Amino acid sequence: MSARILIVEDEPAIRELIRVNTQHAGYTPAAVDSAESAARWLDGATPDLIILDWMLPGRSGVEFARELRADPKLKAIPIIMLTARAQEGDKLQAFDTGADDYVTKPFSPRELMARIRALLRRAAPESVEDPVEFAGLRLEPDTFRVFASGQLIELSPTEFRLLHYLMRHPDRVLTRARLLDKVWGDHVYIEERTVDVHIRRLRLALNPSGHERLIETVRGGGYRFLPK
Ligand code: CA
Repeated sequence: MSARILIVEDEPAIRELIRVNTQHAGYTPAAVDSAESAARWLDGATPDLIILDWMLPGRSGVEFARELRADPKLKAIPIIMLTARAQEGDKLQAFDTGADDYVTKPFSPRELMARIRALLRRAAPESVEDPVEFAGLRLEPDTFRVFASGQLIELSPTEFRLLHYLMRHPDRVLTRARLLDKVWGDHVYIEERTVDVHIRRLRLALNPSGHERLIETVRGGGYRFLPK
């Protein structure tokens, strides 16, 4: 069955552009023009991915993304945020709301399709159990083992989950809030500093093989896993 994509965009030309392109790519799109219509649509159906415009009349895309992330039934649906603003601060805010990726307008349909494909692939449930490997660092979810240049390394369960999440989202800035949410779960009482503590331990464990360089600190942002 082809993946269902909900498009939330108030500009008719862009909405239609995305609808036509997703359909052409073999997906099943549904298009609405506001967060309110999207909420009604979501009452009766669950899409595999949501493309959400940042600037919408009424409830903004940012607000709506936060609502989706707070809803246990909808929080796992990947979101691509469309934004006309390219400033770094806004991008970070987009990730803070829980968007999985963002695309800056104007965008090429090809680029958007590539992002959709990547996100759907990442979101596929079976991929979570597949081993991930970058630059000689290999993590095996089913055996809970990590190899750095062929050497088994010791990690606590938290560091293992943290590394797994980082490796499943390479090349992206992951805020501390997001890491807390995804790795620790809904433990809101945990301070963001906790993430730094575990990153430090993770780097120590990866230090002998030189793989600590794959975990980059992004000033004012969070962390990024470098795939090479
Ligand atoms: Ca708009």
